[in-house]
Amino acid sequence: MRIVVLSGGIGGAKFLAGVRAHARTLGAEVTAVVNVGDDVRMHGLQICPDLDSVMYTLGGAHDPDRGWGRVGETWVVKEELAAYGVEPSWFGLGDKDTATHLVRTQMLNAGYPLSAVTAALCARWQPGVTLLPATDDRLETHVVVDVDDERRAIHFQEWWVRYRGDLPTHRFVFVGADNAKSAPGVLDAINAADVVLIAPSNPVVSIAPILAVGALRDAVASGPAPVVGVSPIIGTSPVRGMADKCLTAVGAEVSAAGVAGLYGSRSDGGVLDGWLVDSSDAGTEVAGVTTRAVPLWMTDEDATAAMVRHALELAGVNA
Ligand code: GDP
Ligand code: CA
Repeated sequence: MRIVVLSGGIGGAKFLAGVRAHARTLGAEVTAVVNVGDDVRMHGLQICPDLDSVMYTLGGAHDPDRGWGRVGETWVVKEELAAYGVEPSWFGLGDKDTATHLVRTQMLNAGYPLSAVTAALCARWQPGVTLLPATDDRLETHVVVDVDDERRAIHFQEWWVRYRGDLPTHRFVFVGADNAKSAPGVLDAINAADVVLIAPSNPVVSIAPILAVGALRDAVASGPAPVVGVSPIIGTSPVRGMADKCLTAVGAEVSAAGVAGLYGSRSDGGVLDGWLVDSSDAGTEVAGVTTRAVPLWMTDEDATAAMVRHALELAGVNA
C-alpha cells in the first residue's frame, strides 16, 4: 500500500509518527508532502520550519516540550547575534539547528533543488518516510496586517513568532504559488497512492499553501486515490498552536465543520472524500463528505496510529 500525507510542521509531524507506525504493520510506503510556505531566509540562512519539524520528529531528535527544533539545543549563536544588535532578534535560531540551515543553504547555493537537499539531510535522520517539499520553487506565506497604523504584508514567520498572530489580520497570500511547480516525485506519489491523508495540520497556513500549487491540488482533487482529512480542531479548540486565529482571519468557523468547509468535497471541486472528527464532535455534517467520529488527541504514537487506522478504514483501503 502507498500512503501520501499532506503535512505542516509540528501537528503534521506527530501525525506522521502515527502513520509510520501503522504503515509498518501493513508494510506500506509513506510519502509526506510538506508545506514550504513558512520557509524564510534569515541571517543568510534558508530555514524550512515544517520540513525540519517533520525530519527531526521522525528522526527522534526533536524537542517534545518546545515542540519545534532540536532536543538539547543551545543558543550561543542567537545570543552572539543579539550582542551585535543584529535583527531579527525575535527568531529562535538554535546552534544545532543552525548547522542544518548551513548545510541546506550551502547546497541550495550550489544549485541543488530543495527536494534534493531534503533527501540529503534525511540521509542522516532516516525518518522512515519519503519527505518531499510541496515545491522546489519559492512559495512564501505572507500576511496582510495593520501594524503601526499602516496596512502591510509581512512574512508569516514575523506574524507568527514576533506578533503571535496578535495584529488585525486581513488575509494570507501565498507569494509565488501561481508559478510554483510541484517538486519532483510529488505528482507521481499522489497518482500512485492508494490513499491521500490530510494531516491535522493548520488548514490556513500549512495545508492551504500546499494546495496552492495548482497541479498538486488538481492531482489530489481529481486523482484516483480517496482523500481523507483529519480535523485539527477539537470542539472549538486548536489543541495546540494558533489555527483558531488563522481560521478567524479567513472568516471560517473554528470547528471541525469549519475546516472541512474550507477543504470542500471532492464531488464539488474540493479535496475531501472523508473527514475524521473527534468523538466529542460526533454528528458533524459536511456536504458531500463522509464523516466519522473517533478520538483525535495525539497523546502518543499508539493513539495516533489508531487515528490513522480509522482514516484508512474510512477511505476503504485498510488491508
Ligand atoms: P505547524 O506547522 O508547526 O504549526 O504544525 P501543523 O500545521 O502541522 O499543525 C498544527 C496544528 O495541529 C494545530 O493548529 C492543531 O490544530 C493541530 N493539533 C495539534 N495537536 C493535535 C492533536 O492532538 N489532535 C488534533 N486533532 N490536532 C492537533
Ligand atoms: Ca508551519
